[in-house]
Amino acid sequence: MILEARDLAKDYGPVRALRGVSLALERGETLGIVGESGCGKSTLARLLVRLEEPTRGRIEFDGVDLTALHGRRLRERRRRIQMVFQDPYASLDPRQTVGGAIAEVLRVHDLARGAGRVAELLGMVGLAAGHADRYPHELSGGQRQRVSVARSLAAEPVVLILDEPVSALDVSVRAEVMNLLVRLRDELGLSYVFISHDLSMVRHLSDRIAVMYLGRVVELGPWDAVLDVPLHPYTGALRDAMPVPDPELEAGRVDAPIRGEVPNPAAPPSGCPFHPRCPLAEEICREIRPELLELLPAHAAACHVAAREVSAVRSA
Ligand code: SF4
Repeated sequence: MILEARDLAKDYGPVRALRGVSLALERGETLGIVGESGCGKSTLARLLVRLEEPTRGRIEFDGVDLTALHGRRLRERRRRIQMVFQDPYASLDPRQTVGGAIAEVLRVHDLARGAGRVAELLGMVGLAAGHADRYPHELSGGQRQRVSVARSLAAEPVVLILDEPVSALDVSVRAEVMNLLVRLRDELGLSYVFISHDLSMVRHLSDRIAVMYLGRVVELGPWDAVLDVPLHPYTGALRDAMPVPDPELEAGRVDAPIRGEVPNPAAPPSGCPFHPRCPLAEEICREIRPELLELLPAHAAACHVAAREVSAVRSA
């Protein structure tokens, strides 16, 4: 286990953005995290790289409690967990050349310096050494995101937190950047936490998928099990909202599979937080919040109805 969040919570005043999330990332694994905006997935990402402090809970990296470290020891560990943001333009300084931006990371972390390493990092992300002299505005969106990835790799991470890394890119270059991320993961033995609002985006490279709703994980399991037999109605609705490659099937789809809006996280519904939007909601759902339970091997969900149905099938 390389990275583990235990009972992680984050409050912003009355808004409880994250409400007790426990997740573990194995070495070499990609864990996809999916949910609508406001579900807490980006808050989780910021906590994992220690851009923010958790209100409660702990984060262990390679067996060491990151929340208890300070100063140089924290900086050294934190370097090993890097983040790639959605908007590469925002994370690059427009007045700094590509080479300057990468060299800055090497300098800050006191790692191998010189033009050779910068060229090597550019080559790893499919850019030419000559790109080092360019400014961000001289690059395409896809090239800028490649530079962001090279910048993250300059810190020699073992874990990358990818927060919607291709969502801001043209559809035509998304696949290229996704393929690059898969290649880098396999070649460098990296572990990924891949965050997206779009289930179809994470399924291609995730080993497991965690589905989040209103600050909690509501389903967690192997990617194919989560997609083929979603246990939680919210996951089922996200799956049904995925684009269908066949235009005829697309034309016959029922629209708006998820009715209603995400509730206000400052005043979440009683019981199961999904109950106001859930087509299967029963009386118990309005009163008692379901716990995340392993209902099938390595496949957990927080749903009263799913728990009952799985246990009925098992005892039949
Ligand atoms: Fe729907 Fe009830 Fe399951 Fe919540 S617990 S997802 S309301 S069926």
